[in-house]
Amino acid sequence: MWYFVSPQVVYGQDAVTRLGQLEGKSAFIVTDANMVKLGFVDKVKEQLSQAGIKSTVFDGVESDPSLETVKKGSSQMSQYGPDLIMALGGGSVMDAAKAMSAGYERPDIKAEEINPFTPLGPRKKAKLVCIPTTSGTGAEATWGIVLTVTAEQRKGSFGCRECTPDIAIVDPTFALEMPPGLTAQTGMDVLTHAIEGFTSTWKNDFSDGLCLKAIQLVFQYLPRAFKDGHDMEAREKMHNAACIAGMGFINSMCALAHAAGHSLGGVFHTPHGRAVGLFLPYTIEFIGDVREELWAEIAYSIKLKVPKGKKAAPILADAIRGLARGVKEPLSIKETGISSDSFNNSIEKLVDNAMMDFQLVTTARAPNSEETEKFFRYAYDGKSIDF
Ligand SMILES: [Zn+2]
Repeated sequence: MWYFVSPQVVYGQDAVTRLGQLEGKSAFIVTDANMVKLGFVDKVKEQLSQAGIKSTVFDGVESDPSLETVKKGSSQMSQYGPDLIMALGGGSVMDAAKAMSAGYERPDIKAEEINPFTPLGPRKKAKLVCIPTTSGTGAEATWGIVLTVTAEQRKGSFGCRECTPDIAIVDPTFALEMPPGLTAQTGMDVLTHAIEGFTSTWKNDFSDGLCLKAIQLVFQYLPRAFKDGHDMEAREKMHNAACIAGMGFINSMCALAHAAGHSLGGVFHTPHGRAVGLFLPYTIEFIGDVREELWAEIAYSIKLKVPKGKKAAPILADAIRGLARGVKEPLSIKETGISSDSFNNSIEKLVDNAMMDFQLVTTARAPNSEETEKFFRYAYDGKSIDF
């Protein structure tokens, strides 16, 4: 028995007005200081007050939020007693809000104990509404929660199906202020979700179409959104793509690029989308011959020419490198600015972190630790080695 889970998705340039129709008494807004500065928090509060809902703001979510931040948020939530929880921000904010919401519902369970095999039970105290301000993680549509385990210098993946938000407000006007670098990084995250979701061992009929559509949207609209942040059509399409890819991959899971990306981010604080995006072509090369027909299907869907007798995987990997280069994203670990000394000193940790990551379970060709080390070394400078 398998499940497909998804929030109610409200999309388009006026999606935020859905907040004005919500029913409830009080809302706890989880966000970060930048969202306050951009005036986005006021925009949300205004809609809530139109619905007669009072609100309070927790703006202390850092990027790559820690277990400590979640604990703090949950305890403030418990004091306030909201019947609505709003997450306003990027993946970090939304993941933190999901974990805080779980802590609020179930104070007997610690955030690090939330896992896909232990149901939390239904959300009884407050609905969770996510409003993404980046077009990337798709966290508004997923139950996954990535938190930093500070003491162990690693990112941990937590969550279970009950952590899925109730409502996702996919309003592209919140994404307009993303600078080009953030647009590029987060866009590469969308592509990685969609490609990994389409090729993981848990792929299924329900997630396939979503993943393929998101791949097409990224190839078509990411360069435009990068070039002109106020290209509303491109922004809207990328905002949709992020959510669509989120709904896709969370129901089929990701793979090696995410395991490696989480690992790199845990050690070197490389932004999530940049890290997974740079590992994506290497992942495709590594998995390559396994499920060859899937790489061909992706190539076909974005009109890539695969000459007769040639394999689609390396051609797709090159096309992704071309896209990444076009939006000025690094193509190797070295290009992110990590010196070879730092890299070599951390290789053991990088391999260990990746080997512990759940995403390896759903990788079509899961590497052993020796292969994982080779993988990282290849991705360090892109100088080909034999897998
Ligand atoms: Zn991701």
